[in-house]
Amino acid sequence: LSARASTILSALDIPIATDVPGVYDGTWRGNGDILESVCPTTGEVLARVQSASPRELHEALDKSKEAYLFLRKLPTPRRGDVLRQLREALAAKRDALGALVSLEMGKIRTEGIGEVQEFVDICDYAVGLSRMMNGRVVASERPGHTILEVPNPLGIVGALTAFNFPVAVYGWNFSLSFAAGNATIWKPSPTTPLCAIAVTKIIADVLERNGIPGAVSTLVTGAQDVGEAIVNSADIPLVSFTGSEAVGRVVGKAVQSRFGKTILELGGNNASIIMPDADLSMAVPAVFFGAVGTAGQRCTSTRRLYLHRDIAPPFLDALQKLAIERLREKGAQVLTGGQQYDQDGLRQGNFVQPTIAIPESVDPADSIWSTETFAPVLNVGVFDELEQAIGWNNAVPQGLSSSLWTRDMRNIGKWIGSEGSDTGIVNVNVGTSGAEIGAAFGGNKSTGWGRESGGDAWKQYVRWSACTINFSDATSWHRVSNFRH
Ligand code: NAD
Repeated sequence: LSARASTILSALDIPIATDVPGVYDGTWRGNGDILESVCPTTGEVLARVQSASPRELHEALDKSKEAYLFLRKLPTPRRGDVLRQLREALAAKRDALGALVSLEMGKIRTEGIGEVQEFVDICDYAVGLSRMMNGRVVASERPGHTILEVPNPLGIVGALTAFNFPVAVYGWNFSLSFAAGNATIWKPSPTTPLCAIAVTKIIADVLERNGIPGAVSTLVTGAQDVGEAIVNSADIPLVSFTGSEAVGRVVGKAVQSRFGKTILELGGNNASIIMPDADLSMAVPAVFFGAVGTAGQRCTSTRRLYLHRDIAPPFLDALQKLAIERLREKGAQVLTGGQQYDQDGLRQGNFVQPTIAIPESVDPADSIWSTETFAPVLNVGVFDELEQAIGWNNAVPQGLSSSLWTRDMRNIGKWIGSEGSDTGIVNVNVGTSGAEIGAAFGGNKSTGWGRESGGDAWKQYVRWSACTINFSDATSWHRVSNFRH
């Protein structure tokens, strides 16, 4: 193992030069298939991870059920206090964990650290939430009655996560699920098991210190079969799935067929629209980062760029210069893009040249425009009227993120209103990629309609009951017209 890799793994208590157990439900083990964790930058094998066998998966589910029975009795603010301690534990290991994200997933180190910071931030958010997960008192029509809307925990929440955010997505789910009183069972991407193991070790430590069963945060590493077992388990009322549209379609149908709930966070195909009055000094770098940041492997990466005809030539000129300068800084030979790098030192990894393409026409039905290419490839179209660009923006199956660059209030009003963008994230003078944890995050249409993190997202992690209480001495009384079912 390289010195860099061993330093990072040691800092996170991951065993070196021996197989790594990839199942945790209070104890660590793993007797299923071996998953190889490979560094995508160098091709180095970082570890062999022992994934969950079918029997271990079964045991882990039983343990999660028991752990839920414990956690649901713990007062919600007390759960918040545990999350506050987790926040501190994560912050203390932030740099090492961020370095591991970079090593195992391939994004740059600062983005890896930023991803861990998101977990820290959502813990803060959930601590506050633990004092505010309120139901409601509803005025009853009947004398001597009162109606309450009461949130209670669901049971076990399944979290199936994608390779590109191997820490933050579990953070968004676990923190809200735990605050709500659920046990969470995590199946991470088979390509990033070490990130999941490192995160679980940090959580397990905090739980142990608080006398809480480890299986409130169960980990089952594995491939498709482990994911399918979670999806099909009647013991898991809510499956939160982050991944591709193709797999999301299968997961959504399977969970629905057993009347389970889903949160689906699927692919994005995000557009930026540049009006003639846009501030280019802001818009060009934002589009650049949106398209090539995280190697174009964010669900919110900018994949489509619609330029007003008046601004198109100077914008493209500036964008190409920025791309070329960044490549020169890295010592790369500048080509037209669209190919893998073949230089020494890059050949073992997965490096693709950032690409700007201007297809012959904007045909939203064409797969060039309608599918998510998970790489730094930006397609450009030129428009004359904002309405046309909004039409193109909305004409694709996905609906995650979009951004408009303008200073004109009239454009902004249209863009965020009923005739505007149909995505879940609608930005103005802010790029498509990234989001703060305070607002609900997610997309519409084939992105799956799921919402995670802030806003009202927590309300999906609880079961709601409408409780009518008759505190009078008379029998319940209904007007016939109000008799609903
Ligand atoms: P993927 O769909 O290949 O895998 C996601 C997870 O599903 C993995 O854990 C995988 O092992 C599991 N899985 C695969 N087949 C399964 C099955 N039949 N049943 C149950 N589980 C199964 O996705 P990926 O390549 O890891 O991630 C990239 C995708 O995720 C992109 O499309 C990206 O846009 C999307 N993504 C979306 C968001 C969002 O919030 N909208 C965030 C991050 C990533």
